[in-house]
Amino acid sequence: MVLEIVGVTKRFAGVTALADVSFRVGDGTIHAVIGPNGSGKTTLFNVVTGVYRPTAGEVRLDGVRLDGRDVFEIARRGVARTFQNPRIFGSMTVAEHLWVSGEVRGSPWRFSRLVREKARERLAFVGLEALANHPAAGLPQGQRRLLEIARALMLDPRVLLLDEPHAGLNPVEKDRLMAVIQRLHEAGLTIMLVEHEMRVVMQLADRITVLNFGQVIAEGAPREIAADEAVVQAYLGRHREAVRHG
Ligand code: ADP
Ligand code: MG
Repeated sequence: MVLEIVGVTKRFAGVTALADVSFRVGDGTIHAVIGPNGSGKTTLFNVVTGVYRPTAGEVRLDGVRLDGRDVFEIARRGVARTFQNPRIFGSMTVAEHLWVSGEVRGSPWRFSRLVREKARERLAFVGLEALANHPAAGLPQGQRRLLEIARALMLDPRVLLLDEPHAGLNPVEKDRLMAVIQRLHEAGLTIMLVEHEMRVVMQLADRITVLNFGQVIAEGAPREIAADEAVVQAYLGRHREAVRHG
């Protein structure tokens, strides 16, 4: 197992965002985490990446404890993520966004030829190489999401966490993004995917964990989840069409 979430609880003042959550993400799999708004999905990412310390429980990467380490240390160890709202710096070009990330792993050769070369490769992987010298602020949402992924890939991640990457994209952008995620999967990358779009989840995920009010209410293969009564009750009711066509 690449990533293990073991009995993770996260409480904020008055709110239990995660309650004794456990699941394991297998090597090279796409593991989706779904659930209604407010069910704790982003909080889970924030715990795994070290933004929050869990109130209880452990997070392990290849058997090594991550909880208690800081954000940069966890990123350096190979946990990369994208955000629900891409963090774009207006004055920087597409390539410069990647060069800056090239530093995070403690590289002494800031913006060196190696970093630039790697950035070019990562941009090519997501199909943005032609826009390398374009100001990132001018990109439409779909390309911003691809930029976020390319930037995360600069870390050579062991696991990539994607937080609702398809939200707000048009159908063409969605298909393009799904193809990129599929290519990452084929390249062997381990991916944890938070996603609202059931068509995407059913098509991409090897395994699905369902959260509701911070608790795991089901886990299984896409077909099992689509047929799970508790999941349908809590969540899938309004997504049923998408599941049937997924
Ligand atoms: P999801 O991503 O599944 O929509 P979140 O993880 O964002 O859900 O939120 C889960 C719950 O935790 C919500 O009730 C939310 O209001 C609460 N929450 C998240 N972050 C914080 C925070 N920093 N402080 C207080 N409450 C928070
Ligand atoms: Mg969220």
